[in-house]
Amino acid sequence: MLDATLRRRLPPRITTPEFWPATFDRYDEILSTAAHCQVEHLGTSAGGRAIHGVTCRGRSGAPTVGLVGGMHGHEPQGPATCMNVISVLGYGRDLKGTSWPEIVGDLNYVIVPLLNPDGRARMPNSFVGLARQDILHYDAGMTLDGERYDPQGDCNPEEMMILGGLYNDAGNHVNRETDPENIRSPEVRATMGFIADHRPDIVLEFHAHAAPPLLIRPTNLVPDEAQQEQEQICERIIADAKAQGILFDGKVPTSARCSTSLYHHFGGATPILYESPQGVLDSKAPWSHEQIIDTCMFVVSELCSYLMRK
Ligand SMILES: [Zn+2]
Repeated sequence: MLDATLRRRLPPRITTPEFWPATFDRYDEILSTAAHCQVEHLGTSAGGRAIHGVTCRGRSGAPTVGLVGGMHGHEPQGPATCMNVISVLGYGRDLKGTSWPEIVGDLNYVIVPLLNPDGRARMPNSFVGLARQDILHYDAGMTLDGERYDPQGDCNPEEMMILGGLYNDAGNHVNRETDPENIRSPEVRATMGFIADHRPDIVLEFHAHAAPPLLIRPTNLVPDEAQQEQEQICERIIADAKAQGILFDGKVPTSARCSTSLYHHFGGATPILYESPQGVLDSKAPWSHEQIIDTCMFVVSELCSYLMRK
């Protein structure tokens, strides 16, 4: 019998559109040709993969937008959206040729396209068009006994048949790092250092789920003033989306157990978490790749227009 490491080496590969880069060769191609941005090596993941930080300078004194994708490996739309934003900033169009007039070069951009490269490396490129049953074990994973893993924290990779997209290769549950004095994963440590250096006004962190689009307000370590700004921004995005016929979940839940909040602790940023639809067929949002990316880009453009008005 194969051991767990060998059995989980190759994720299923689904062909995705050009505007949905989801593999390391595409990420490298886009970042290495983005002459309008600076790309830094922020650190190395538990599995030995590079974590990149991208900055695009706007006019002096302009506000700064922060974007973080790929916290979870099974949520490829976040990194894909970051790559589309980088394309807009360089060439005025995203990867399928759409222009986004609100995503302007006047602002500064601080982008970590892929926080958890280990998770991405072992996950499929897309879940669009699959059923809930098909994707059940990709988030938290499956044990060697074939049981769905129910995580309360980290996991032991040696005990997993499918090491879920929530974890790095050491089994750290990266988005549950809420103690700024005790960050265990190199991915979150590297990202927080980058955010501390650049101090963005807002950080949008991309996630995905098998449900309609949802904004979440991370609240641990986030003071009242920043929470009021979160409310104001989220309400505005939901109202503007509705006006364009995009139906968000109208509720904006709070969460006190995400590392997303640490962008405020380390960098003074107002943290916002966006859950995109995964495009799962038997969900209330069986969206196409195009709808998913367009709505992620819409959320980014809303943040840009908010900061330009501020
Ligand atoms: Zn997630």
